[in-house]
Amino acid sequence: MKKIIACCGINCSECPAYLATQKDDKEEIKKIAKNWSNESMSFKPEEMYCDGCNVEGRHFSWCEKCDIRICCREKQFENCAYCKDYICDILKNSLEKDPSAKKNLEEIRKNL
Ligand code: SF4
Ligand code: SF4
Repeated sequence: MKKIIACCGINCSECPAYLATQKDDKEEIKKIAKNWSNESMSFKPEEMYCDGCNVEGRHFSWCEKCDIRICCREKQFENCAYCKDYICDILKNSLEKDPSAKKNLEEIRKNL
C-alpha cells in the first residue's frame, strides 16, 4: 500500500479513519466517530470517511477544513515538506503536538 503523508506530516495510511474507509467498515466508522467526539465537537459517522489528506476523494470533515491542508493545497504541494516557508506558524503548532508528523516531513525534506 502506498504511504500517504498528509500536508501536516501525519501518516494517513495508518489513520483509523482511512483504514476503516478503505475496508468500508461501517461499524468501525461509527466507533471512530464516537471516540473522536468530545464535549466541544461531535462527529457523525458520515463525516468520518476519508481517502487521505492530499488524495482526491472523501475527507474526514475536520481534516477537510484544516488550515494547513487548505494552504498546502492552494500552493499545490503534496505536503508542507515542499514549502519554502516550512515551518510556518500554523504548521509549527501542529508539529509540536505530533512529533511523528514532524519526523515524516523531515524525512521527505532530506531527500529533496
Ligand atoms: S486526512 Fe484523513 S486519513 Fe489523513 S489524518 Fe485526516 S482523517 Fe486521517
Ligand atoms: S505556508 Fe507552507 S508550511 Fe505553512 S501550511 Fe502552508 S504549505 Fe504548509
